Amino acid sequence: MAGIWVFAESREHTRELLGAGRELADRMGTTLGVFAQGASASKEYIACGADEVFVLPVLGEDEPLEACVPVLADAVSAGDPDVIFIGATARGKTIAARLASRLKTGLCSCCSGFVYDEGDKLLRMERMVYGGAGIQTVVCETRPQMATIAPRTFAPAPEQEGRSGKVSELPVVPESGVKVLDRLPRQRGAVDVTRAKAIVCVGRGVEKAEDITLARDLADVLGAEVACSRPIAEELQWLPEDVYLGISGKRVKPELYVGVGVSGQIQHVTGIRDSRVIFAINRDENAPIFEAADFGIVGDLYQVVPKLIDEFKAALKA
Ligand SMILES: Cc1cc2nc3c(=O)[nH]c(=O)nc-3n(C[C@H](O)[C@H](O)[C@H](O)COP(=O)(O)OP(=O)(O)OC[C@H]3O[C@@H](n4cnc5c(N)ncnc54)[C@H](O)[C@@H]3O)c2cc1C
Repeated sequence: MAGIWVFAESREHTRELLGAGRELADRMGTTLGVFAQGASASKEYIACGADEVFVLPVLGEDEPLEACVPVLADAVSAGDPDVIFIGATARGKTIAARLASRLKTGLCSCCSGFVYDEGDKLLRMERMVYGGAGIQTVVCETRPQMATIAPRTFAPAPEQEGRSGKVSELPVVPESGVKVLDRLPRQRGAVDVTRAKAIVCVGRGVEKAEDITLARDLADVLGAEVACSRPIAEELQWLPEDVYLGISGKRVKPELYVGVGVSGQIQHVTGIRDSRVIFAINRDENAPIFEAADFGIVGDLYQVVPKLIDEFKAALKA
């Protein structure tokens, strides 16, 4: 039994898992393998720390990624890795659960960090519970030790020159038995908030959907994107679901996060706490967002935001 193997849907996410996997493989004195969809990323993955790339055939349009589970399971049974990390996207979680079940092993879902115990050679894997209020430590005593890891949990592995590795082709993916009858476009926000350098986040302190314009005006002055708390997207549906931030929404790391009428419950703060600067506007001086904030203004957003916009505009002109 040897090796750390990783698999994620996107290249960027795969590189993040390679970053975490490489460090662990060096500590355990073992190799790092990666599953790739098609051979085109092989060179990049080897440069990012992989010792072996297992190339899955590129699937047809109507073939869901889960169809590759039997092939992954056969490869794992043959290669016998000690640890498998899978990207915790919706598809990745499904794949990980099915794979763990086939391999009759344990799975730590949404692992946020881990420590390797050299004594018993087991990972102490951490995951958030109770909406982020607690951290649970999971030890998987069966092998392979498996975990899913959300995007942006680890930094992507940098490319290094002069690395070499092995590339192996995996057999053709068997038919999944799933037939795609139709595809409907999902309602999406125009932007990917996870890439935004600055974010103005709207909370329930905003009284009406039309008032989101205030946040948009502030965002325009700051060169920011508009995001929101979960109730604004899920309950009120004033903004699309892919722009709400938090433990069950998007996790972001912008240079600047501005919370406008956001209370700052733990489930929200978990998704924004890695922002470089957190700035909050809330009329309640005891709102929990001020505990997470670097700067804050206690006041009515309907008075504060227009003044801020004027001040920023004036400062930009000066
Ligand atoms: C399992 C679970 C997962 C969850 N996941 C998420 C998640 O991923 N993301 C998320 O956001 N939430 C999540 N939640 C919900 C979370 O607990 C909070 O309910 C939610 O974040 C609150 O949103 P809010 O701050 O917009 O609203 P509220 O809590 O209602 O806060 C509104 C704030 O606006 C302030 N305010 C009101 N009027 C004004 C005004 N005129 N000027 C200035 N300030 C004003 C108030 O003082 C208050 O602090 C989750 C909950 C659970 C149970």
